[in-house]
Amino acid sequence: MRKFLLIFIAASSLLTLVFLFTASTKGRILFASLTCASALALILHHFVSTRKENEQHQLEDHSQAPVQRQFPVDALFDATITSMREGMLVVDRDMRVVASNPVAYRLFGSAPRNVTNQRLTELTRNPAVYQAFLDGLQGIERSGVKVDMVGIERSVFDLCVTPLALGNGNGPSGALGVFVDVTRTEHLELVRQEFLSNVSHELRTPLTSVLAFVETLENGALEDPDSSRRFLAIIRKNASRMHELIDELLELTAIEGGNVRLRAAEVELKPLVDESIAALSAKAEPREITLINDVSAGVKVYADDRRLERMLTNLIDNGIKFNGPKGQVTIRHEPGARDKIIVEDDGDGIPMHHLERLFERFYRVDRARSSDMGGTGLGLAIVKHLALLHGGEVTVTSELEKGTSFTIHLPHAPESN
Ligand code: ADP
Repeated sequence: MRKFLLIFIAASSLLTLVFLFTASTKGRILFASLTCASALALILHHFVSTRKENEQHQLEDHSQAPVQRQFPVDALFDATITSMREGMLVVDRDMRVVASNPVAYRLFGSAPRNVTNQRLTELTRNPAVYQAFLDGLQGIERSGVKVDMVGIERSVFDLCVTPLALGNGNGPSGALGVFVDVTRTEHLELVRQEFLSNVSHELRTPLTSVLAFVETLENGALEDPDSSRRFLAIIRKNASRMHELIDELLELTAIEGGNVRLRAAEVELKPLVDESIAALSAKAEPREITLINDVSAGVKVYADDRRLERMLTNLIDNGIKFNGPKGQVTIRHEPGARDKIIVEDDGDGIPMHHLERLFERFYRVDRARSSDMGGTGLGLAIVKHLALLHGGEVTVTSELEKGTSFTIHLPHAPESN
């Protein structure tokens, strides 16, 4: 472009000179204008391209030079491996550690200075780790190696080892290992499997019973009205059980998934307890269990009334189920930094070692007994999650043969401005 302009200017200047001496005034003006136009075009072109070049230089200056000046590669590398959430270990050909990061020190329970220069076998006796690094030194890349570390707590890592070929080409000069903590993922997977097997088990028992009784009816029992009625009642009971289980599962999943919105307000507690008692009295009466509402009139708590009633019903129901004849279930309130609603019974009690896991889904002290009572093993899990949703919690104390006491702790209403 530039070349073309130069040729153009030279040619038009030459022609202008020729015409200056030979042509008419009109011709001279025309060629003089031509020369001026091309000179102007050249000046503009020069101006634009110089500016572009400057901008390009500036961009390059900003993107490279200052970064290198401010962050030397060594410092960048150190900062990166130090702040990594994964453990990193580099060994040389002799299986000696030449580089590592703080997560790796913790992984092997060592102080930083002890790791470097140590042999891998001095750091860990874990055969999976050793074999993975050995493969790395033989040029084999390994990934997904599961490593169990048993320290204060059991941790599971996913190890990936890459051969490092930094030397003169005689095979790898070292191996780089990266340890990713997958303890939580493993735990969630275990919980999921356990949950699935529990649900299948819980559904299979009543379903087997339904199928067995249907078959008995089909094989002739249908002709006997008394047996038919009895078997149909059993089928109905088992079908209701499955229905209840699915309802409770859906409810629990909704609460845990954060899909339940609380409509919390100041609620009067005594009438709410009365309602729960009324709903359960038919269950308590045959065994002469007394349900006592010991809440003073006028006591208010901050809660979603429907959800609080659900918690109370589950706890009172358990107080009835796991109690002897003529037992007693009492509901009380205690004021304090948080409102306490206490449901206590004088029933069987729960052995101490079960208390920690009592609120887990499907956890039961005596599975057979709970099933006989029509329990699903989800009642306490629902109470726990509803209490958490209220910003509170539920706790339990129990003494064998003396009774059990569950306490729902509820925060007060937030201060209104
Ligand atoms: P379930 O449907 O079996 O009642 P829950 O989640 O409500 O399930 O309770 C879990 C287990 O906790 C019960 O199976 C029972 O073993 C124990 N449990 C709960 N409440 C009481 C109580 N008041 N007294 C004794 N044991 C209880």
